[in-house]
Amino acid sequence: MTQIILPPATIGIIGGGQLGQMMALSAKSMGYKVGVLDPTLDSPAGQVADFQVVAPYDDDESLNKLSSQSDVLTYEFENVDVDSLLKQTVALPQGTKLLDITSNRITEKTFIRDEAKVPVAQFIEVNNVSEFEVATNQIKLPAILKTVSGGYDGHGQWSLDSEADIEKLKTNFPTGTLILEQRVNFEKELSIMVARDAMGRITLWPISENVHVNHILKTSFVSGTIDEKHVETINNIASRIAETIKLRGVLGIELFVNGSEVWVNELAPRPHNSGHYSIEATNISQFEGHIRSIVGLPIPDIELIAPTLMLNLLGDEIEQAREDFINHPEWHFHDYGKHAVKANRKMGHITVLGDENIAKLRKWGEGHGQRGI
Ligand code: AMP
Repeated sequence: MTQIILPPATIGIIGGGQLGQMMALSAKSMGYKVGVLDPTLDSPAGQVADFQVVAPYDDDESLNKLSSQSDVLTYEFENVDVDSLLKQTVALPQGTKLLDITSNRITEKTFIRDEAKVPVAQFIEVNNVSEFEVATNQIKLPAILKTVSGGYDGHGQWSLDSEADIEKLKTNFPTGTLILEQRVNFEKELSIMVARDAMGRITLWPISENVHVNHILKTSFVSGTIDEKHVETINNIASRIAETIKLRGVLGIELFVNGSEVWVNELAPRPHNSGHYSIEATNISQFEGHIRSIVGLPIPDIELIAPTLMLNLLGDEIEQAREDFINHPEWHFHDYGKHAVKANRKMGHITVLGDENIAKLRKWGEGHGQRGI
């Protein structure tokens, strides 16, 4: 029997960033209580939660503290310490298998290719310079060398476009386990959010088209007019992955597309930045879908209300947006409440609905020198 956790039960969220904040806001609107574990006092999620456990994520004691006050646990980021999680007795509907798989690019890509049977870019594990030499003979340039874990937003990635790049990297070779990947010649980067509820029913959100600048997501555009065949292929991929892993909660899937070819790039075992548009542009947001899934509630079919554009506000771009907000009643303006503005840090985002507002938002971003819009 599936355990159904009804309000006013308490949801404990590991991680206090913006994803946790938006999960917490959804949970709160349904009447749940929310606790957040984060090392920083007044983290974005901590600011909207009923209580905060201010402690490092990775020790048993801090997790015990959160669990002892929660009826169900979830997480907003993937680098959770699985061993500590396994020691908890409170409900963890998402389990730990997906966390284990996605904590390492090799296990992740192997799972996608061999278990879900979905295409990924050709890849080889590399542990030292001599394995790198062998791998570069097997994978044609251009290629990308990446650390298998801990890399984010382009950190821990080396582009290899020429033999000279290979030779140069050999002279100062990174340590640890690495993955050499063929660089896919993609036309577009897309993503899809998928959830699976406690009864095994799969929910799919509309596909978004994403633009990255310096490896960081800048915009997500959902036209609702992607070719039907493409939508079917991508929906099938997402459903297959969700089914194979017996998913609970929301999973973000990033894809590369070229013509009719589709490759999965990465899995995010949680709601994803490219799904933020769903807060205003669909009947049920990815965050509500996530909460519904983990507490055992069904998720209705998802409907796109209008074409939408989500623009990330990175670093000091938030300051301009705060000033201009007054002139843009069409903006759904999200400011995560982070205390320190740092270059490229995700400080907030803007979502707009409808073609006219999309064009206006693109113009605003371009007018302020933002790239990738
Ligand atoms: P990742 O951290 O793996 O998501 O990579 C960040 C970004 O680098 C992606 O969104 C792509 O723009 C680019 N990228 C990563 N891997 C590949 C690949 N195998 N082929 C082409 N582009 C890639």
